[in-house]
Amino acid sequence: MDVKGKDEIVQLNGNHSECLTKKRQDYLEWPEYFMAVAFLSAQRSKDPNSQVGACIVNQENKIVGIGYNGMPNGCDDDLLPWSRSADNKLDTKYPYVCHAELNAIMNKNSADVKGCSIYVALFPCNECAKLIIQAGIKDVIYLSDKYHDTPEMTASRRLLNLAGVTYKQFKPKQGRIVIDFNSINHSDLKSTNGFANVQSP
Ligand SMILES: [Zn+2]
Repeated sequence: MDVKGKDEIVQLNGNHSECLTKKRQDYLEWPEYFMAVAFLSAQRSKDPNSQVGACIVNQENKIVGIGYNGMPNGCDDDLLPWSRSADNKLDTKYPYVCHAELNAIMNKNSADVKGCSIYVALFPCNECAKLIIQAGIKDVIYLSDKYHDTPEMTASRRLLNLAGVTYKQFKPKQGRIVIDFNSINHSDLKSTNGFANVQSP
């Protein structure tokens, strides 16, 4: 889950050896957290060329939908093509694959996503812009805009602008976020559970 930015690395659940009596200062802020959830979700994608994730957040900073790009439910992704180009368009992934934004909206665990924000790794295409608008999402936070000059993205911006959906590029404060499952064993739990310093009389 590399993102472009500074070379600094945040190690989640990492170094607890200092300042154990004060609140952590290097905790993840909300935007980093939501974008990281989108990137983590993208790791579920089977697409060999492009792994994209999306995370929908309501106005209380609660996650209400997560999705990544993949073939529709029940459609065997071993039987559908994953290539980007072929003589026949039916032999490419494009007619079949569901984008992350579509899946995040369809996976919502709330009644609706009106007024929500969506965090996405890539600027949404025009088809996803339609879904975002119709779902009532009001804000798009994207990381990469590498297809900016394509007709799909141009049409997307046109639609989002007309519908009053705001969009802004996410600038991560750190270039990488590392999830280390071993860190829980390295943490000084005796010092952080509140009991370690209790002395017997
Ligand atoms: Zn799309």
